[in-house]
Amino acid sequence: MRILVIEDEQSVSAFIRKGLEEQGYEVVQAFDGTTGIRLASQGDFHLILLDIVLPGMNGLEVCKTIRERGDSSVPILMLTALGTTDDIVAGLDSGADDYLSKPFKFKELIARVRALTRRSTVDVSKSKLAVADLEMDLDAKTVLRNGQPIQLTAREFHLLEYFIRNRGKVVSRVDILENVWEVDFDLGTNVVDVYVNYLRNKIDKGADSKLIHTKVGMGYVLKED
Ligand code: CA
Repeated sequence: MRILVIEDEQSVSAFIRKGLEEQGYEVVQAFDGTTGIRLASQGDFHLILLDIVLPGMNGLEVCKTIRERGDSSVPILMLTALGTTDDIVAGLDSGADDYLSKPFKFKELIARVRALTRRSTVDVSKSKLAVADLEMDLDAKTVLRNGQPIQLTAREFHLLEYFIRNRGKVVSRVDILENVWEVDFDLGTNVVDVYVNYLRNKIDKGADSKLIHTKVGMGYVLKED
């Protein structure tokens, strides 16, 4: 597995590289955004680790550029020292699949990297799922609401799939972390809420009936009104 690390701080980049190599990943480093974009377009990477605060072009712009150039499939994990909800949403909005706040524990980074690089191993006999007027094609990776296509990131797609497979059942944040992020510990962040709201904005905004409902103190449920 090849990972591109775009991070200007030499010591941080070296630390990440060493740790990932110990886990058997092949690491390519870029120390600025422009180089990162060039490498991303040339190399066949399984994941990009992208720092937000970079000299010149920042991580958000780098992420947008990589996505605009049509490479929408490579997972992007954003590293941020900022960590406020607005920054996180801006990161996700620019096309990142996940984020990690600095300083982070290496164990946590590895867990995220594993979850993001894991190929979908779900053996589904049925490649199409539907609830109300929402349709999901698991092979073509497409989502339609009322016949209109909706663009989701890989993480949002998995989250929606998890919700649909558990339709009518209240799922907790821990359930979601375990099944969608595939981590068995609490990340101690509001990442689930951020993603659920993001998904909601894409599938429920402007729709006649809402599908994703909040159960205060318990979690979320996807159901028809
Ligand atoms: Ca930096």
